[in-house]
Amino acid sequence: MSKNELDKALELIDSEVKKFGISRRDALKLAGLSSAAALMGTTQAQAVEAKASEAKGKILIIGGGLAGISTAARLTNTLTNPDITIVEPNPKSVCYQPGYTLIGGGVYKKEDVDYNTKDFLPAGVEMILDSAAEFMPEENAVVLASGKKLNYDYLIVATGVALDYGRIKGLEAIGQTYSSVDGTKIIDTFSDSGACSIYNMDSSVQTWTQVEKLIEKAKKGKVKALFTDPNTPIKCGGAPKKIMYLVNSRLEEAGVKDNVELHYFDDSGKYFGVKEYADAIEEQFKVRNFITHFNHNLSGVDLKNNVATFTKVWEEKGKWDADLEEYEIIKKSEDVNFDFDFIHITPPQKAVDAVAKSAIGSGKGWVPVNQETLQHVKYPNVFSIGDTAAVKMGKTGGTVRKQYKVLVDNLVAVMEGKVPKAKFDGYTVCPLITGIGTVMLAEFNWTAKPAPSFPLDPTVERYIWWLLKVYLLKPMTQYGMLSGKA
Ligand SMILES: Cc1cc2nc3c(=O)[nH]c(=O)nc-3n(C[C@H](O)[C@H](O)[C@H](O)COP(=O)(O)OP(=O)(O)OC[C@H]3O[C@@H](n4cnc5c(N)ncnc54)[C@H](O)[C@@H]3O)c2cc1C
Repeated sequence: MSKNELDKALELIDSEVKKFGISRRDALKLAGLSSAAALMGTTQAQAVEAKASEAKGKILIIGGGLAGISTAARLTNTLTNPDITIVEPNPKSVCYQPGYTLIGGGVYKKEDVDYNTKDFLPAGVEMILDSAAEFMPEENAVVLASGKKLNYDYLIVATGVALDYGRIKGLEAIGQTYSSVDGTKIIDTFSDSGACSIYNMDSSVQTWTQVEKLIEKAKKGKVKALFTDPNTPIKCGGAPKKIMYLVNSRLEEAGVKDNVELHYFDDSGKYFGVKEYADAIEEQFKVRNFITHFNHNLSGVDLKNNVATFTKVWEEKGKWDADLEEYEIIKKSEDVNFDFDFIHITPPQKAVDAVAKSAIGSGKGWVPVNQETLQHVKYPNVFSIGDTAAVKMGKTGGTVRKQYKVLVDNLVAVMEGKVPKAKFDGYTVCPLITGIGTVMLAEFNWTAKPAPSFPLDPTVERYIWWLLKVYLLKPMTQYGMLSGKA
């Protein structure tokens, strides 16, 4: 994004927020953000803050994505003598993932989100291009895939999630992959079948190509588009819906909406974890004639014949249990097939194996931490942050924005021999794109209640949040968070 584009966006934001009697400065302050224009001018070299602590120690960060780099930057800003090493296998680890949805909807291009990690590496931090293969917390050591063993005084685990496409029958050739790595396997497997996925940067480009093809098909006759949401935790829980809303807008723009059935398949039985937002989404779906299939999990896809198989689950009332004085509940399931012209696949997601299967992982894979302090429940010199931390409702960049400041405060406290006192309050945000030009800014916390930063009804779709989403959140993330400042 150029400075001119940003200035234009800021002018638009100015005029929009004024309608509500708020200044842009206040609006950004309410959102806990610094001035975007100022952040655009900030480089890593300039990101100098008052150094608050003389504490010393060897800090090892595993995973140099959004959480890992933001944390390293803030530690660099805070410690007088930082000794920080990051292990990260992907030289593109800081690509802007929330923008992949916008690529899929034809709003951004790949070059808008494609960043090199070396350009965001805080001064003085060493980055090793490798991955952690084995964690030895009793020895304060990590063994890398190359066989090299690294010792640490303090460890931060920020390895994000693995995308497990291979769990879906028919997509075994893709296997496990990540959002910002080369997407050739996904693209080649999907080929021109109408299948696509915004969960990888390259395949989000393919998604837009498939949306354009869907529009062409719809010009010739009736077609069916499917959108899936799997039975695992996912990063950005709103993304499977956002891409559906964007496709819907594009179909409306092209005047072919009436020829397309849009089906949404969700393993859960609700639209959103927060009732107020779920109710608003239900209404938005009704208005747009989306067809919802709850309790359906994509289990297979036949890309040659364009058939998707879903495992549908439900419960039935069984026999009366006289002892418990209630009916037995019988869990039932069956496979159901749907043909498609277009299918957007949200992959099942999991913690990376090296972490999940290690002593610092947990039964479900995610790193067990105290959800408020982000300190490991068993190893006090280990912290975890971002998508891989076992934190309720927390797999978004918005969550990382709140967490990394808490983690740095608490790690520095531990390094100084103090008790970690900073607390993460469970905040997260989902700017739910509901169409080209509209966003519902769903902010909430782990009490599953709306937690709006602005004095506006958070369940209303607004143009101003579209401006925030498309023009401001990217520079704030890339130049604000990644320099440890916003
Ligand atoms: C399509 C899409 C839309 C999204 N939309 C939004 C949105 O609108 N708003 C929002 O707030 N968030 C959104 N997100 C989520 C957001 O991008 C993530 O929550 C955020 O990137 C989490 O940061 P992280 O550092 O935990 O994970 P990542 O940024 O994914 O970084 C994890 C890093 O760990 C590395 N790693 C993995 N295994 C190892 C290993 N063994 N050793 C060393 N390193 C390893 C990986 O290579 C990766 O670089 C979206 C994500 C996607 C994919």
